Amino acid sequence: QPVIVAIDGPAGTGKSSTSKAVATQLGLSYLDTGAQYRAITWWMVTNAIDVDDPSAIAAVAGKPEIVSGTDPANPTITVDGVDVSAPIRTQEVSSRVSAVSAVPEVRARITELQRAVAAGAEGGIVVEGRDIGTTVLPDADLKIFLTASAEARAARRNGELKGADVNATREALIKRDAADSSRKTSPLAKADDAVEVDTTELTLTQVIECVVTLVEE
Ligand code: C5P
Repeated sequence: QPVIVAIDGPAGTGKSSTSKAVATQLGLSYLDTGAQYRAITWWMVTNAIDVDDPSAIAAVAGKPEIVSGTDPANPTITVDGVDVSAPIRTQEVSSRVSAVSAVPEVRARITELQRAVAAGAEGGIVVEGRDIGTTVLPDADLKIFLTASAEARAARRNGELKGADVNATREALIKRDAADSSRKTSPLAKADDAVEVDTTELTLTQVIECVVTLVEE
């Protein structure tokens, strides 16, 4: 029986690093669902779709073809065959992704992709996101909800963005989490049966060990 692990939580809690490492250690596939929402947002921006107009977004939500590679050692993401792993991490995309991913047609489309990837992962998969345990894979074998203080999250994200201002990073994260938590369709939320892990005082190695232990229990 393939094991399905859902890892949700706000930005900067260590979801990606933890999910990739857990998948690698346990020989599972890996899916970064935030990258899919970033990819569709990148496509909207590139095609000059007004991201403040939900009906404009909804009208073209089915157009881009988004493909995720699920090897945790080399996760890939393409839109219409183009590798977008770098451009989806820009500030331009980060500041618009919440608006695009709040559109129900976008969520329906991306959720369908996610379920297909999970169903096709024969040995099991670690799926990270915001609504995996609540909406995408409610029957997951293990659900983890990662949290951390805003300061810790901003400091970690700032370490990845060379030369950024930590206060600006913190404000941007808080704003994005507020938008993600307050949208009507499948908001950022902890599933009732998820295990909450506060990573503020933990090293990445400790978080990984904690999750691997929970999978093996
Ligand atoms: O995980 P990451 O920070 O890359 O996610 C980018 C954005 O994608 C989130 O801020 C959220 O707006 C959206 N997202 C979502 N549902 C998911 C994963 C990400 O709405 N399952």
